[in-house]
Amino acid sequence: MTTLVSVENVSQVFGSAKALDSVSLAIQPGSYTVLLGPSGSGKTTLLSILGGFLQPTTGRVLINGTDCTLMAPAKRPTATVFQDYALFPHMSVGSNVAFGLRMQGVSKAERTAKAQEMLRLVGLEHAFEKKPHQLSGGQRQRVALARALVVEPAVLLLDEPLGALDLKLRRQMQDELKAIQKRVGTAFVHVTHDQEEAMALADHVVVMSHGRIEDEGSPERVYARPATRFTATFMGESTIVAGEVDAQGRITTALGAFDAPGLAAGSAACIAIRPEHVHVGPAIPAIVTAVVYQGSFKRVTATPIHASDILLLARLPAGAQVEEGARISLRFDPAEVIVLRD
Ligand code: ADP
Ligand code: MG
Repeated sequence: MTTLVSVENVSQVFGSAKALDSVSLAIQPGSYTVLLGPSGSGKTTLLSILGGFLQPTTGRVLINGTDCTLMAPAKRPTATVFQDYALFPHMSVGSNVAFGLRMQGVSKAERTAKAQEMLRLVGLEHAFEKKPHQLSGGQRQRVALARALVVEPAVLLLDEPLGALDLKLRRQMQDELKAIQKRVGTAFVHVTHDQEEAMALADHVVVMSHGRIEDEGSPERVYARPATRFTATFMGESTIVAGEVDAQGRITTALGAFDAPGLAAGSAACIAIRPEHVHVGPAIPAIVTAVVYQGSFKRVTATPIHASDILLLARLPAGAQVEEGARISLRFDPAEVIVLRD
């Protein structure tokens, strides 16, 4: 498969601050890429560079092998969906969707047909004559999506597109976005700070921090085998315990010793234990410090008696008999422990 978008050593400097620090990224045709990171990590800056709204301080962006670094947004094969939808309030939904085609000089009959088709694709075939204000937030979001897709971009860029929706609608729209992306087959690049959203949508997740890519890959791999401590804490929860690597290639921590392949003796490292890998069982006596009932499970925090500075996080069955302040015994499988360079 030939790469659709190549970001090559892109840096972006604003005054004395580096918003992007030598970022390189490949985006494959038909993929759903999610840029995930906390606020200020450089996600919007990278998306703006992809869309042509910003020219990077250094580095290049190639789309389909063509250097687009300095190309205007309208000239490059990208389209952008903004968080506030940016629909034209005085225009009908149909005219909103057809707008890009009108700009391209497409005939009225053809653009009406294409706008109809796009609205059908997003489940809004009956809204053609309506005005944006007559639609719900989720519907307006779908109009914005149809408007961006109608010009058949090679890459669709979405910056926190579900940020304005309430949680329930947000989860519902995630499913729809994924389904629409599969149907049209366009490569989507979607920015979010919500790790659940990233896992729900991405085939390829790119974890960003301080203008750098911390880790990237399938959500399954990034969650199961995060490359860095930051990734382990940002993609899902975990208990992090510091340790030191010995000459035998083992890391010794307050919760035991584990194989640490590839890490140098004497180096500082840590382990991460996912809460779903911690179970009730004989091994680690602890005192329960918090129990949060979550419906389908209980989120339990416990302090090991022999390592009282650690807060061990466990995801226990909803029916587990656990009480705050009580003694509990917990265990985890050493094979599931994630070892990380510090
Ligand atoms: P994110 O979208 O991940 O929240 P941004 O890409 O918006 O992050 O910002 C990355 C960093 O660059 C932040 O520190 C932000 O303050 C800074 N920044 C972004 N745009 C500008 C700008 N136009 N001028 C100055 N600093 C900016
Ligand atoms: Mg942003």
